[in-house]
Amino acid sequence: MSSGACWGEWIAEPSGGELPSISPIDGTELGRIRMASEADYEEVIRRAEEAFLEWRMVPAPKRGEIVREIGDALRRHKDDLGTLVSLEMGKILVEAKGEVQEMIDMADFATGLSRQLYGLSMHSERPMHRMYEQWHPLGIVGVITAFNFPVAVWSWNAFIALVCGDCVVWKPSAETPLAAVAVQNICNEVLSRHGWKGILNLVIGRGGTIGERMLQDRRIPLISFTGSTRMGYHVAETVGRRLGRTLLELGGNNGIILMKDADLDLALRAVVFGAVGTAGQRCTTLRRLFIESDVAPDFIERLKNAYRQVRIGDPLDASTLMGPLINRNAVSAYVDGIRRIREQGGEVIYGGNVIERNGGCYVEPTLVRSKPEMPVLKEEIFAPILHLIEFRDLEQAIRWHNDVPQGLSSAIFTTNLLSAETFLSARGSDCGIANVNIGTSGAEIGGAFGGEKETGGGREAGSDAWKAYMRRQTVTINWSRELPLAQGIRFEL
Ligand code: NAD
Repeated sequence: MSSGACWGEWIAEPSGGELPSISPIDGTELGRIRMASEADYEEVIRRAEEAFLEWRMVPAPKRGEIVREIGDALRRHKDDLGTLVSLEMGKILVEAKGEVQEMIDMADFATGLSRQLYGLSMHSERPMHRMYEQWHPLGIVGVITAFNFPVAVWSWNAFIALVCGDCVVWKPSAETPLAAVAVQNICNEVLSRHGWKGILNLVIGRGGTIGERMLQDRRIPLISFTGSTRMGYHVAETVGRRLGRTLLELGGNNGIILMKDADLDLALRAVVFGAVGTAGQRCTTLRRLFIESDVAPDFIERLKNAYRQVRIGDPLDASTLMGPLINRNAVSAYVDGIRRIREQGGEVIYGGNVIERNGGCYVEPTLVRSKPEMPVLKEEIFAPILHLIEFRDLEQAIRWHNDVPQGLSSAIFTTNLLSAETFLSARGSDCGIANVNIGTSGAEIGGAFGGEKETGGGREAGSDAWKAYMRRQTVTINWSRELPLAQGIRFEL
């Protein structure tokens, strides 16, 4: 039994009830967590508030050094943590270790960033006045994460927030509590060496209790939420009602446009990885493939052949390419999705079945020949189902591609410069991420990550995403002995 509440020290016996962690590989109970109660939550927030008073005054490059050490600790624990992610979440080991590598990359990025939290300076319209802007930390950042990236998404937020001078309170998914406990332990080791407590904090609990408490808590100026669009609406409304800030990373419904002039070998590999990787449980998973008619019959045959070679099973086995879905509910959503696809005229041409194996949550990766008008195409079904849709010209494909509520990741495969630039232009993809000859999943941390429309509009990780974690202050200094007013206004007694 492990504690699920920590402010640098674990609260010995949190009183929010027990939470089992169940492996989707075979239904084994991996461990139990004592969840945080309302009182435990209060204790953690109080400690975070106290810690913030000091942390905000530590020079940013010094904060960066601590993040660098956390990155080094993650390097040492990469294999162990990756294995735990694989066991608890079900993604294959290489992807799980890749997720830990992403945390390490984020730590490196944040360390560099800690010397680059730049503000602009402006020319004042008044003589002997200086104007500039500076950035200050916000306070406590609440981070609520989804099950499918149990550790990396936290690091996108936490490492940037830390160098910005914020403290973090993390509520992980109730599906993956053990991975969060492990991360907290790794961080505690580094932070306690430097005498810091209350900087990185953990509260494990149900979304409807602890998560809800965070949304309503005025002591948390920013809630960074990663999860479904359905929940995202609730988060935006609840936090908005108190005029708090939100950073939303919600559902995707990602598409690739495959032109007949594309390098089809390259495209095939990208399509299979994008649709089948993480068993179709990435926000950036490829869900819709638009294929130019001339090459469609041939390409679909090659795709079916490739799907036949996908080895499904234990994600810890090095030869496995696709592990289980997260739980029984996810399997039911897959079955229900296939049923509705069929009802609406979609033809399942590969897969479509649940696989009974060792009490795990396995399904077949699935290919569907779909019609562009099917309403189900507008939904994110969080499972490895790929819609195949033929098109005749690029403008039509772009129209269909954009005709969904979500706007996360997109790609075109082509060797034609005009087609690529059309896709990237203002009348092209309407997504936050647009790739050429690269699949929809597997973004690098250096860019700002996030999507438009019902994906929520948030941006995390690289570029200038750090600005969401700070408050901007415009400063004007008068070093003259006069008091000139802006806009030439005269106000004299
Ligand atoms: P989910 O919406 O079910 O849960 C997300 C988080 O919300 C969990 O921690 C959950 O406990 C919490 N929660 C539930 N009720 C709450 C409440 N009332 N108040 C506050 N928090 C509450 O999502 P999921 O099934 O864990 O994850 C899958 C979804 O996440 C997919 O839609 C996927 O596309 C999305 N996702 C998006 C991104 C992105 O960057 N855009 C990344 C990963 C996952």
